[in-house]
Amino acid sequence: VADRIAVMYAGRIVEEGAAATLLRAPRHPYTLALLKSRASGALAKGTRLETIAGSPPDLTALPTGCAFADRCRMVQDACKTTRPEISWLAASHSVRCHRVADTAA
Ligand code: SF4
Repeated sequence: VADRIAVMYAGRIVEEGAAATLLRAPRHPYTLALLKSRASGALAKGTRLETIAGSPPDLTALPTGCAFADRCRMVQDACKTTRPEISWLAASHSVRCHRVADTAA
């Protein structure tokens, strides 16, 4: 069992931290979407899995801003023009998202 998890999108780590933290309180929109798309957990029979619309970007021509912008439900203008820097939420929990403040539970 892993102690730490690094979530990668388009070749970059977008969230990293203790496994328990990322599974219980994820903060990057991609991590949140991934966890909603898994079958394990409390899905009742007949419940549809959530999917992440769209496709990953071409790794040889990454967008200027956030690589997840075309698929993100929280995208805003700055996401398309400026690559997000790392935000440290704790000494061992980092997230790369302009809107990390808006993903707190
Ligand atoms: S930076 Fe913007 S587009 Fe990228 S994950 Fe965060 S909210 Fe979504």
